[in-house]
Amino acid sequence: MTEKPKVGVYVCHCGINISSTVDVDAVAEFAQKLPDVKVARTYSYMCSDPGQVLIKKDIEEEGLNRIVVASCSPRMHEPTFRKAIAEAGVNPYFLEMANIREQCSWVHEEIEEGTAKAKKLVSASIAKVRLLEALETKEVEAEPAALVIGAGIAGIQAALDIADAGFQVYLVEKTPSVGGRMAQLDKTFPTLDCSACILTPKMVDAANHPNIELLSYSEVEEVNGFIGNFDVRVRKKARYVDFDKCTGCGDCASECRVKDRIPSEFDQGMGKRSAIYLPFPQAVPAKYTIDAGHCLYLTRGKCGKTPKCQEVCGAGAINFEQEDEFVEFKVGAVIVATGFDPFDASRKPEYGYDDYPNVITGMEMERLVSASGPTGGKIKIFNGEEEIEPKEVALIKCVGSRDSSVGNEYCSRVCCMYVAKQAHLIRDKLPDANIRIYYMDVRAFGKGFEEFYDRVRRENVRYIRGNPSEIFKRGNKLVVKAEDTLNSRPLEDEVDLVVLGVGLEPRADMRGVMDLLRLSQSPDRFFLEAHPKLRPVDTATDGVFLAGCAQGPKDIPDTVAQAKAAAASAMIPLARGKVTINAQVAVVNEATCRGCAYCVNICPYTAIEMVTVNRFGNEVEVARVNEALCKGCGSCSAACLSDSIQPKSFRDSQILPQIAALGVMR
Ligand SMILES: Cc1cc2nc3c(=O)[nH]c(=O)nc-3n(C[C@H](O)[C@H](O)[C@H](O)COP(=O)(O)OP(=O)(O)OC[C@H]3O[C@@H](n4cnc5c(N)ncnc54)[C@H](O)[C@@H]3O)c2cc1C
Repeated sequence: MTEKPKVGVYVCHCGINISSTVDVDAVAEFAQKLPDVKVARTYSYMCSDPGQVLIKKDIEEEGLNRIVVASCSPRMHEPTFRKAIAEAGVNPYFLEMANIREQCSWVHEEIEEGTAKAKKLVSASIAKVRLLEALETKEVEAEPAALVIGAGIAGIQAALDIADAGFQVYLVEKTPSVGGRMAQLDKTFPTLDCSACILTPKMVDAANHPNIELLSYSEVEEVNGFIGNFDVRVRKKARYVDFDKCTGCGDCASECRVKDRIPSEFDQGMGKRSAIYLPFPQAVPAKYTIDAGHCLYLTRGKCGKTPKCQEVCGAGAINFEQEDEFVEFKVGAVIVATGFDPFDASRKPEYGYDDYPNVITGMEMERLVSASGPTGGKIKIFNGEEEIEPKEVALIKCVGSRDSSVGNEYCSRVCCMYVAKQAHLIRDKLPDANIRIYYMDVRAFGKGFEEFYDRVRRENVRYIRGNPSEIFKRGNKLVVKAEDTLNSRPLEDEVDLVVLGVGLEPRADMRGVMDLLRLSQSPDRFFLEAHPKLRPVDTATDGVFLAGCAQGPKDIPDTVAQAKAAAASAMIPLARGKVTINAQVAVVNEATCRGCAYCVNICPYTAIEMVTVNRFGNEVEVARVNEALCKGCGSCSAACLSDSIQPKSFRDSQILPQIAALGVMR
């Protein structure tokens, strides 16, 4: 027999957050008179330790078996109160939260309105809590391994931390080498460390770590399962080079018939490579790859008598018969570290990026100043007649950031500093050049940033407050048209070189990973975290975490910090060896299920499958829920034609009385 409900109602002041717009005493007094309510109290901070002790004491002394907390959103403190009542011996699912902060005090200005609505929400919660069923949490084993997608600095750092803790890591990188964008940078603000010098050791560590299986030139094709138990399938793309035989000597590339004719992605198209190539000298793994789109043998079926690379490869590593391979494995957690795309400057045609070769992007500038870049670090431009060192240089900030005309209202967070860094590097190489930076604001928020910005200004770099409206050609010069907004002066500055400080955008190909892992995007289109403040590296898919610029623009220190946070979070299930499964899952009434499979198709978590059961002597198809995958979202219940599937704690018998208790809300 179910025991008679004895309800305790706890109304939180939340300091003055709630009590300034809701008369909390009046709400408690009102609740006290409702059916089955034994106790109704208020307290300044219900979530605090004394607040929780108050509830536990009442459970003990008054024999309460159902609890309603009227406070903030359940997203904030439901786990806190569930834990508290469980400690006092009450089933943690005998709890309802009335959200009188976000839904009352934060949206109403008048105390009468706020209080009236709070009373309705509390009475609705009481109506429901009386009808809740006891639920049991279950645990399943977790695979002690992690998948990291993307091997920029974020993915490398996360993989190293997890591997150092003793867990197996599969690090999947779609390009032939690890390193990401950081490998392309020359020096890094604000400390001016050489990017390659601090990154390369980590790249090598990741490739050699006994607990890391590096799958470069590979892509994740399938992820099935749930936290603790993901089944992963990865496609290793054919390199047409035997990985074990290749010594990385480079003889093949120097003999390639299209040697130095293909734009190098690493050098932003400013340098050239062969069809068989190593993306950059410090690439990891140091194994050559044939670019099937440009190799004469693979595209046209012939390349001289025999392909030259095959002829000269002493190790016999070239293999044109090679095909894509598939690898399958199981992991307990996944980290998405797929990074960003630099903003495509062609989308601001007024800056003439597609028209004038001497208008370049910040990423191109990184390669131009780099000693390992296409010019050996010399800043040279072609002025129509000859190659010269530019004397007048303009750098423009916020290109593609804080700009609703291109759909990017957000700040890219790194451009203020990388533009300052590039001005410093240009000053280093061109001591006599006039360097101007056109800006809207300077955001130098990080450790050492303000000091670095001051240093650059002292190096005779002129900051002009004004966003250029246009760049056009006058003779051999480029003209930057702007307004100096500090003294309302229109400008037409003649320069030799313009560097566009392009912002960071979500990757154009992010949809694939999004669909694989059922992730969402925030309004800025980067991957959405579970909670911006309290769960910044988690996602709505349990066991899947975010690291680095995949979640939003950030510099290297923040990327590394977030990668470490994602690694620590991913290791929780791996270290525990088991995961707790959500108890509020959907259940099917197999006696009434019609087997239409609508619920199977509608479930966003692929948590429902059809199974054959024997019903009154007949074999019939019915739906069955995989409790480990179900999130209790209720989509199945809304779609079911025969009311045969309902989420526990949200059954019709529980929520209809709740709705009735709300009455008609004004
Ligand atoms: C011009 C410029 C200059 C900068 N200068 C500085 C500086 O001086 N100091 C500083 O602190 N920051 C600087 N930054 C920022 C810095 O580049 C980033 O903080 C850093 O690169 C972010 O690393 P990440 O690993 O998150 O992303 P990325 O570097 O973008 O790495 C992501 C990796 O994931 C791989 N990948 C993507 N999708 C998939 C997939 N589906 N499967 C497998 N692999 C995938 C990519 O190939 C790549 O290797 C600069 C940025 C720019 C644009």
